[in-house]
Amino acid sequence: MPQLAIRDLRKSFKDAVVLDGVTLDVEPGEIVCVFGPSGAGKTVLLRLVAGVETCDSGVVALAGRDVTEAPPETRGVGMAFQNFALFPHMSAFDNIASPLTARRAAPATIKTKVEKIAALLKIGHVLEHAPRELSNGQKQRTALARALVADPKVLLLDDPLRNVDAKLRYEMRLELPSLLKASGATALYVTQDYKEAMALGDRIAVLIDGRFVQVATPGAIYREPASIGVARLFGDPTVNLIPVEPVIRPEGLTVHIAGCIVPLSRRYEHAAGRACMLGVRPEAILVDESPMADGFPVELEAVTPLNEKTLLLLRANDGRELLASEAGEDAAPRRHGVAHARFDPDALLLFDAASGERIPPKA
Ligand code: ADP
Ligand code: MG
Repeated sequence: MPQLAIRDLRKSFKDAVVLDGVTLDVEPGEIVCVFGPSGAGKTVLLRLVAGVETCDSGVVALAGRDVTEAPPETRGVGMAFQNFALFPHMSAFDNIASPLTARRAAPATIKTKVEKIAALLKIGHVLEHAPRELSNGQKQRTALARALVADPKVLLLDDPLRNVDAKLRYEMRLELPSLLKASGATALYVTQDYKEAMALGDRIAVLIDGRFVQVATPGAIYREPASIGVARLFGDPTVNLIPVEPVIRPEGLTVHIAGCIVPLSRRYEHAAGRACMLGVRPEAILVDESPMADGFPVELEAVTPLNEKTLLLLRANDGRELLASEAGEDAAPRRHGVAHARFDPDALLLFDAASGERIPPKA
């Protein structure tokens, strides 16, 4: 049984439809990242699950119990929102204990639970400190401990790393998955950062225009995005999109790019004659100084080292810009001027130009 089941949830504010039929199952212990652009309705969705906002129609069920009409405090949902505010006059211990204190739990129980969760989050040694004596990382963890201490059936996290500095965000992105897994929490985790979604989510639910356009593992979303819209949201630099019309020729299925004939897998033969968009991830473009089989000439206009990779700005003969990326910073003793590009045939994506939906290859 899913720990959280959301069925056809709808919510409008006046005439503005925010959620237009949202459905999702989250299994016990699973972390699902809700990812989408600003204003997509992510916070509204969490507020509906928490019960602090009422839906127009649809069902929210927790561990099999319909809680659609239940008041927030009876749902057993834990929440931590963007700023992770702590009570400034209370110690870390009392901050973490506050949900249990509010429930009038026995002091011995409170002590055991707070110490257990604090040890898990590696803040056992600062429990007597006031918030102002904690580092930003410790504050973050204290707030997370407070959300986890009451054993919520579902933990709702609304972009918790949004307002923290880059270093802490990076550390928490690495640590949070194991912290959440160790706590056994089932979590709905909202983020606007695709890398965070990919690092944290067992699955990612992509919310665009009030609907989940795709719910899948991070790998599946990257390799098999449901639409051009999803493909563009995942990947940095973003996917290259080239209008093409696949043609069946004696040598196989091909597309024309910048006056050159580029092969496409026969598994896309059903797309022949259709107006399509070819999606080429930057890392699927191979660049070399010498001509390559199935390649085409390009002008190499700029080479930008970027941490662990190097970006190459290419211009094809028809003026089209393409962004390629190579692993490593010292990608060849390059170089400007004439070069050649080739697409990795196994990494190509094909979309219907009109609907934007992905055209899956035949098996
Ligand atoms: P995000 O995905 O950035 O978290 P929100 O869920 O906060 O987006 O908001 C989604 C849309 O719903 C926005 O257009 C917002 O203006 C609107 N909205 C949210 N809450 C209310 C409200 N209480 N009254 C009217 N409009 C709201
Ligand atoms: Mg929000």
